[in-house]
Amino acid sequence: MENRANSLNIFGPCALESYSQIEPVAALLSRHKIKYIRTQLFKPRTNPDSFQGLGIDGLEILKKLRETYSSDDLKFVCEACSLDQLDIIAPWAAIIQIGARNMQNFELLKAVGKKMSEQNDYVLLKRGFANTVEEWLESARYLTQGGVPKEKIILCERGTRSVTSPTGVQMDFIAALAAKKAGYKVILDPSHGSKKAEYVIPLANASLALKLDGVMVECHPNPKESVSDAAQALSLNETELFIQESLHSTANN
Ligand code: PEP
Ligand code: MN
Repeated sequence: MENRANSLNIFGPCALESYSQIEPVAALLSRHKIKYIRTQLFKPRTNPDSFQGLGIDGLEILKKLRETYSSDDLKFVCEACSLDQLDIIAPWAAIIQIGARNMQNFELLKAVGKKMSEQNDYVLLKRGFANTVEEWLESARYLTQGGVPKEKIILCERGTRSVTSPTGVQMDFIAALAAKKAGYKVILDPSHGSKKAEYVIPLANASLALKLDGVMVECHPNPKESVSDAAQALSLNETELFIQESLHSTANN
């Protein structure tokens, strides 16, 4: 079974927590030939007392995954929040993620191109939740000027603050379409873009209807026990249904 052509779909937990947490996610994605898995070692958290990620200890888990899944079949997506973190994740991540809070961390953006090698398929740049599309595109230009080819950039819309949405965040589809018009690959993150699991699949389907390049969805083998963003995590059953019904069924469209 093949995925949609040109699909850049990413699934996985908010944060890498343990081997027993990530292995069932890897197995599910591998069964469905989905390559990109979220394996975030470093988490930018609003609350300084909350889980900050496993940090470099998480590399042991990535090494263990490599014993079962080759780097062609399962590719890691990791966020860097600083230059030090970029050094740590660059050799492991097929997709280097720059998160919403660092969209205007210009020194970090400038450094990405220098750190990239053949094994880094893409840089994923999220839009800050209060940034304009113009600012987002200027940040993308920091990447290209630093040496990242434009075709290796994925822009990710992850929703903006909202005073009217019941969850405090709303998905800005027009921003995603505008970024697409500027010639970038664009995906949507309906997990942070809704903050609540019950809205994630409808928003992901809306993203697909817009014919963008893919989605990034948070899931967890046991959502209630997720150490971060538990309310928005899909279960693996829900994730599998979405993959079967929405991704595979549109494979020939
Ligand atoms: C994430 O995707 O792990 C994340 C922290 O999201 P954002 O930067 O959009 O808040
Ligand atoms: Mn999250």
